[in-house]
Amino acid sequence: MPCSSLAEKKAASANTLAARLARLGLRTDADFILHLPLRYEDETRITALVDARAGVAAQFEVEVVDSEIAYRPRRQLLARVRDDSGALLLRFLNFYPSQQKVLQPGARLRIFGELHEGYLGPEIIHPRFHVVAAGESLPECLTPVYPTTAGLGQATLRRLIERALTRADLADTLPPALRERLHLPEFAAAIHRLHTPPPEMTQAELEARDHPAWRRVQFDELLAQQLSLRRAYAARRARGAPRLKSTAKLTRSLLASLPFRLTKAQQRAWQEIASDLAQPHPMQRLLQGDVGSGKTVVAALAMLQAVEAGHQAALMAPTEILAEQHYRKLAAWLAPLGLEVAWLTGSLKKREKEAAIVKVGAGDTPIIVGTHALIEDKVEFARLGLAIVDEQHRFGVRQRLALKDKGLYAHQLAMSATPIPRTLAMSYYADLDVSVLDELPPGRSPVTTKLVSEARRDQVVARVHEACRGGRQAYWVCPLIEESETLQLKTAEETFARLAADLPDLKIGLVHGRLKAAEKAAMMSAFVANEIHLLVATTVIEVGVDVPNASLMVIEHAERFGLAQLHQLRGRVGRGTAQSACILLYAQPLGELARARLKVIFESTDGFEIAREDLRLRGPGEFIGAKQSGLPLLRYADLEDAALVEQARAVAEDMLHNAPEAAAAHLQRWLGGREELLKA
Ligand code: ADP
Ligand code: MG
Repeated sequence: MPCSSLAEKKAASANTLAARLARLGLRTDADFILHLPLRYEDETRITALVDARAGVAAQFEVEVVDSEIAYRPRRQLLARVRDDSGALLLRFLNFYPSQQKVLQPGARLRIFGELHEGYLGPEIIHPRFHVVAAGESLPECLTPVYPTTAGLGQATLRRLIERALTRADLADTLPPALRERLHLPEFAAAIHRLHTPPPEMTQAELEARDHPAWRRVQFDELLAQQLSLRRAYAARRARGAPRLKSTAKLTRSLLASLPFRLTKAQQRAWQEIASDLAQPHPMQRLLQGDVGSGKTVVAALAMLQAVEAGHQAALMAPTEILAEQHYRKLAAWLAPLGLEVAWLTGSLKKREKEAAIVKVGAGDTPIIVGTHALIEDKVEFARLGLAIVDEQHRFGVRQRLALKDKGLYAHQLAMSATPIPRTLAMSYYADLDVSVLDELPPGRSPVTTKLVSEARRDQVVARVHEACRGGRQAYWVCPLIEESETLQLKTAEETFARLAADLPDLKIGLVHGRLKAAEKAAMMSAFVANEIHLLVATTVIEVGVDVPNASLMVIEHAERFGLAQLHQLRGRVGRGTAQSACILLYAQPLGELARARLKVIFESTDGFEIAREDLRLRGPGEFIGAKQSGLPLLRYADLEDAALVEQARAVAEDMLHNAPEAAAAHLQRWLGGREELLKA
């Protein structure tokens, strides 16, 4: 067998090292210097064994008394050590022969670890240790402990970071006057302080991340995020778009035909959108409003403005049910204006679909509503001027932008019913302008929420019966089973069968994700027409479904749902004038997180409040789905720190205009080549 050469071996180990470093995102010198410690260990002092406290990590200097390999309860290396004040046992469950060799009687060691009381007295399991060299002094600064990954030791990481520190460019990207105004230290000083803290800095001071050195890093990170998002925004804006100027003909007719007046919030959002559309660069706007706040009519007005200017407008929704509702609603509103609405989804028959695609391509239909089918390659718009995406968080960034790209220079409007807390909106959505519907249409009665234990299910069934007999309609939402769609379907069918048996005099329907689109649509229309009293459903009804006569909702195993989901589901009732209720059935025992979620949803109906709590419970990455979308997450900055986010935003805006080179250097340091992800 040929032996691999030394060079090959070296290359292989370098490869694995490189792979491990890559896992931590460490490639360039800048990456290494921005890889900051999680915490610190104090090796600047020696603690006497008599002063050691259980559970507190400390350094000791000891002499080995003896060592042995024990076999019970399993093979392990034990070493007894002592200093002038006491004795201690070192226990190694995994060890190398070389370690055993070092632990000779009489050897002097410095050990670092957490002591605890074992069977045989005080002991430390797996202490870090080394033999004290003659005249070896103690380190002057605290020892950093870095986030790492399997197979990459602290010593290696420290060495690489030290090396990067000596040669990396630590030039400041912020001018001195600005630093002074914001009370931030120099970049180089902050970075050195965090990696190699000077002797006077205490561990507590460093680990509480409000030290000025940390603030500088947090500010820089937020600044990089703002710079990159604002730059992406500017780049898209520079592309130019057709001015979609309003003639007000169609929009005025629609407004006149509606049975209601726009709320103040709707008027404001509509004005913002109307003025964006008339600009010669593409709108990049998010319309955000709680469930039921009336986003659809604002979208319809925007579409009409595009049509007035001779362009097409498309609306994409994440589910068939929702797309179908939009289609029906828009068709009903627009038919009296003499406008045709095209309908395009994956479930259409091949021939119908082709016919729709031809019409869209020829520009024969001004308004197009559909699902993902709209962004298929075959679909070409004659002159798309406005692309609207409903429930945008359900789509990936790329899908969202794909629709806009169907019209080379189209304006883009995204809509979301997941209210985004302000700091999050300012940071992760800094590449969009935001309009907010912060008011519900009048005449809605608030939904009462009840928490009921599964043990009292019978009473809940009786309540559903009573409501439906009284002419109201109800939803029964089946338990979410994340692990298995098949199991979820089975459960839904069982729930349906059981309710049908319990309530033989009611008309009961069932909708779930596996039904054919046409079956789903038929079931929904029957429910809308009040031919069905009780609709048993999976979460397919979560978004957008709008049946005002439905005033009662039961959610089974509510403890399994996320906060945003519960809020969306509950938003399906309370859409008419009848007093509405949402009953959350839960099964014991409740986990801590489930209990926290149910408490929030029970106590609040305010989408923003719920979103804030959701953010707190889940963290920003999960909350905005940033992991899927590829947005880099913040490592050091805290989004609760609204003041710092605000400062970073202002500075970014200023830098992009007045110091573009500094902005570029700053981005290079923080994002390297990874910025591409954001440009999509
Ligand atoms: P969402 O923001 O959740 O998408 P919708 O657009 O579906 O909300 O609107 C919810 C319901 O409120 C619909 O039935 C819609 O026609 C109605 N609506 C919208 N705006 C108003 C208004 N200003 N006054 C009364 N009802 C309205
Ligand atoms: Mg909606």
